[in-house]
Amino acid sequence: MMENLKLIAALALSLGVLFSGTVAAQELDKLPNYVAVLPQVKARALAVDPQKGYLVEQLKRGVFVITDGAYQSAFVTTGNGVILFDAPPSLAEHLLKAVADATSEPVVQFVYSHVHSDHIAGAGLILKQIPNLQIVAEKGTAMFLREQRDPRRPLPTSSFNDHRTLKLGSTTVELKVGHWHSPEGDLFIYLPGKKFLMAIDTLAAGSVPFMGLDLTMNMHDYLKVFDQLLDYDFDVLVSGHLTYLAGREDVQITKDYVTDVYKTMKRIHDGTDQMAVMTRAAQKYSWDNKFAVFSVLLDGMVDQCAAEIRGRWIDKLDGVDVFGASHCRTALVYARWDD
Ligand SMILES: [Zn+2]
Repeated sequence: MMENLKLIAALALSLGVLFSGTVAAQELDKLPNYVAVLPQVKARALAVDPQKGYLVEQLKRGVFVITDGAYQSAFVTTGNGVILFDAPPSLAEHLLKAVADATSEPVVQFVYSHVHSDHIAGAGLILKQIPNLQIVAEKGTAMFLREQRDPRRPLPTSSFNDHRTLKLGSTTVELKVGHWHSPEGDLFIYLPGKKFLMAIDTLAAGSVPFMGLDLTMNMHDYLKVFDQLLDYDFDVLVSGHLTYLAGREDVQITKDYVTDVYKTMKRIHDGTDQMAVMTRAAQKYSWDNKFAVFSVLLDGMVDQCAAEIRGRWIDKLDGVDVFGASHCRTALVYARWDD
């Protein structure tokens, strides 16, 4: 009897595993299908050792990028201490170790690229280890952080309007405010002697921008940022995400993509017989449900734009099928309400 019970229990257990395995497979089937990462993009990835959890790589003499494969931070040695740019929380525990892997100079200055916690909320941990750290930010960022009172994003010790030049040891860093992404302000971080540029959440090399054109809150300025980047004399750009470094050609192809998304969306929007689409939708929802009627109009235009963009870009950049529709939607908001 006991043996039988054991057998039944074992059977139930194995059936359960089998059953849950089947359920899991069915659940996976419900997920959308996306094209795999393009081989030419995959080939450019910096190799992060999963055991170590981060990679520190010298890009120019004294200029380093640190990445965990998802986020990027950077630093420069000056002879008088290190200036560190950004502290993504995913990298926070590795940052000072990564600096120490590369140089014996201590970190003395730290720069916030913008307010978003996914890029700077490791700063609290750095400050704990270096209490006299000088933290620099532009005014909008400083004001926002003053309101937030977030111990993970300590207040800057110094802030500025529009631009500031940091000079430390042998190194000059030019900071210039931009408005392509966050409402408070973004920074172009430029090392003129090194042809090195950092501009976070502008693009992802090899891929289309992240969702909603890199979450821009200012499409008007986002459309201008690529020319602003190309005005700098740089050959390496750190844009904050994934394991890839960007060059000038990445800025150009992202500009071409974004311009195509915008022009496509604008042409579809201006060429659609909007009253005809809404009248048809109203036959189903009635004019009482104006949100439903309007949503059919907007969604239809976004779908049309996304299909066109997919056709032209799917084999050129990664993520077209993942975020293309979100790019069209962001472009639609600008085309319909701003432009
Ligand atoms: Zn951001």
